[in-house]
Amino acid sequence: MPLITAGKSLVLLAEDLRLEDNLAFSTAFRASATGLAVVRILPEARGRPRRTPNRRTLEEAAERRLGRQLGALDIPFEVLGAGDDQSLAAICCRLGCTAVIRNAADGMAIENAVRCEWERELAVAGIPLLTVNGEMIRRYGPGGAKPERPFLSDDHKLESDRLADDHPLLLLRAFLQVLPDRNYLADMWIPGRDRSSSSQLSTHFAAGTLSSDRAAWETTKAERIWKAANPGKARSAEAASFRHFRSRVAMRTGFLTVFSRYQDTTRLTAATEPQFDRVRAWREGRTGIPMPDAAMRELAATGWINFRLRQLVTSYAVQLLQLPAAEIGGALAEMFDDYEPGITWPQVGLNDGTIMQERGPRILNPVKQGHDLDPTEAYVRHWLPELKTIPAGFGHEPWLWFGNTLPAPIVDHKAAFRAARARWGAQEQVLLPREAVLLTHTSHLAP
Ligand SMILES: Cc1cc2nc3c(=O)[nH]c(=O)nc-3n(C[C@H](O)[C@H](O)[C@H](O)COP(=O)(O)OP(=O)(O)OC[C@H]3O[C@@H](n4cnc5c(N)ncnc54)[C@H](O)[C@@H]3O)c2cc1C
Repeated sequence: MPLITAGKSLVLLAEDLRLEDNLAFSTAFRASATGLAVVRILPEARGRPRRTPNRRTLEEAAERRLGRQLGALDIPFEVLGAGDDQSLAAICCRLGCTAVIRNAADGMAIENAVRCEWERELAVAGIPLLTVNGEMIRRYGPGGAKPERPFLSDDHKLESDRLADDHPLLLLRAFLQVLPDRNYLADMWIPGRDRSSSSQLSTHFAAGTLSSDRAAWETTKAERIWKAANPGKARSAEAASFRHFRSRVAMRTGFLTVFSRYQDTTRLTAATEPQFDRVRAWREGRTGIPMPDAAMRELAATGWINFRLRQLVTSYAVQLLQLPAAEIGGALAEMFDDYEPGITWPQVGLNDGTIMQERGPRILNPVKQGHDLDPTEAYVRHWLPELKTIPAGFGHEPWLWFGNTLPAPIVDHKAAFRAARARWGAQEQVLLPREAVLLTHTSHLAP
């Protein structure tokens, strides 16, 4: 790596908040003759939306962990926010660095504008910027080619290092221990059972405190150990959970590879005043249709809802309430703890029909989904206390009870559902040419 051997290097961290399985850090550590420094510029200062409180807490814990790890190696570490000088050339000058190295990452147009500004000012200052890509994800921009194999830190080192108690790798390993006893694939959709059946690791993946490649590797290893300890069960449902989990993790990298920067192609339809009122009602879970309302209140309160509920609230907003996709994606970006632009925005596109339209409509009936996913009404009653006046059996359609005094839904879901299907049928193919080409290769990504 001739670029970074001459002097002290600056490692620039973004959503890769870890030292292990981090090609940029490892490259700089091995190649830098006269030391290195590590800097993180906070997401909001790089053009990302405001993080949720849970996301901030998780990332601040990771920053403290990094501070301890780097401190033990005598490597300076700084976290810079919106109020700090983020000129990379000035930072290099202050820390005595003569080169910058980062992991490939792509982002929305605004984030790329920040990156281009860094490239420009470093070029002016004559400071080389090296971008490496250790993950099996094709990234946009320089240095983003998909590597032939992932970069993983030496396993022996990770086994022998005493990992801090809050290290996400320990969370992953604890989950893999119990995975065969969980009904992972069947229960991940079901409110009440979703959080105990799925890994709940998405915020770690999104913050980069855990790499997808490491998760795949650890899953294979745990599977091998479990099969050795359970002879004759290789074809059982328990054994299959490992495969299903691994394929979900692979789905993540697939999304990031193919769909990144989808937001840039999201139609920017200006919302009208009544639409803003509807967006507010949808976001606060006050539209009058219990299942999507309960999901939005769970999301607002906890920062997480399961995959099926994410589909439901998105489809409901885009198709039945007819709200602009850009508004919906923007709201979800602010509400998900695990917000990852390369997943949220394409999922919004799948729901508004600009991606994979040929696979048919994603128009969900919110009342039917309520009955299917929450037959006991426990979920809607938990999140919507106002339903306590409504007798059992009417929790998903309170308006059918003669004594109902709750406000009427802001939309007639049956009429809206029929209208959405008719619109979908009449809609011309609206795939953009570049996406159309990409998507012919990615039908396996359809959820
Ligand atoms: C509208 C919409 C928006 C979404 N936005 C995000 C987002 O911003 N960030 C995000 O991580 N996931 C997103 N997802 C995907 C999925 O809902 C979450 O990854 C999952 O619910 C996270 O819970 P978990 O970690 O317990 O998942 P697990 O079932 O334990 O899966 C393990 C990991 O695999 C990945 N994964 C799982 N399902 C998917 C999927 N369908 N697509 C891509 N990767 C997946 C995640 O990284 C997850 O942590 C979205 C889905 C929809 C429908």
